[in-house]
Amino acid sequence: MSLLVVGSLALDTIETPFGRVENALGGSATYIATAASYFVTPVRLVGVVGGDFPKAAMQFLEGHGVDLEGLEVVKNGKTFRWGGRYHYDLNTRDTLFTELNAFEKFDPKIPQSYRNTTYVCLGNIDPMLQRRVLEQLSKPRLVVGDTMNFWITGNNAELQRTLKLLDVLIVNDSEARQLAGEHNLIKAAKAIIRLGPKIVIIKKGEHGAVMITERTMFSAPAYPLEDIYDPTGAGDAFAGGFIGWIARTDDLSEENYKRAVIYGSTLASFCVERFSVERFEDLTSLRIKDRFHEFRELSRFEEVV
Ligand code: AMP
Repeated sequence: MSLLVVGSLALDTIETPFGRVENALGGSATYIATAASYFVTPVRLVGVVGGDFPKAAMQFLEGHGVDLEGLEVVKNGKTFRWGGRYHYDLNTRDTLFTELNAFEKFDPKIPQSYRNTTYVCLGNIDPMLQRRVLEQLSKPRLVVGDTMNFWITGNNAELQRTLKLLDVLIVNDSEARQLAGEHNLIKAAKAIIRLGPKIVIIKKGEHGAVMITERTMFSAPAYPLEDIYDPTGAGDAFAGGFIGWIARTDDLSEENYKRAVIYGSTLASFCVERFSVERFEDLTSLRIKDRFHEFRELSRFEEVV
């Protein structure tokens, strides 16, 4: 099975109560592709960077089995840069700066060899560009998409058109409320389903994630961690774990979607344990499997009659 990831590649400057990093590898596509690479390789990637994108970052991605044929390098341009500061509770963050640079004129071109990709994950980019990606693909089996407040308020008409083409939408709680104009998350998810996606997954940070379809609901806890250093990319790592598992198993059953949600939560939990993508440097599939099993124990209990 093949998997295509489209989104941003960035150099992030991140401040949390536990430290600071500058120009560290980030971006939605980076986190999605890295997380997914634990389940399926190569991961096809489409994105753009400038001539200043570090060699070490390329090597990190290639080392995880990410296929960079679709990565456009604008030699005389600069890579997208984003700065964020987290507060003590780590649930709130301020965007300090967004420098689009090469990303500003990004026009995703899907290489011929990617056009028959079966599974597609559209990271957080302009919804019009997300649609342009889909127009170039022959007939994917499943399209998962992400979006953010920026597009919900800034380009809602385009977003509405893109939503009609998604099978699964992954958003956080505030985005779901904003998109649906509804405070209750279950009602919000059902309203979003009426806009197009068959499945809506709402991430609630340290309170886990809930997957909602027209008829069913599945709730997963977040893995209780003692040390969280940097929440950046957790949502994207979730998406990568989710789509990676689905692509690996090629099974679109309800039960398998539940496993995918737990793998998504597992990858997100590892992501936040260190800054940037550092935790993925030595993370093994075995550790992932172990934590996946721990999730089952987290809320299992025996009934006494
Ligand atoms: P998350 O923490 O899952 O929301 O993802 C954070 C990543 O998204 C960071 O590594 C940023 O580089 C990237 N990012 C932030 N703002 C944008 C944006 N407007 N478009 C695309 N990617 C972004």
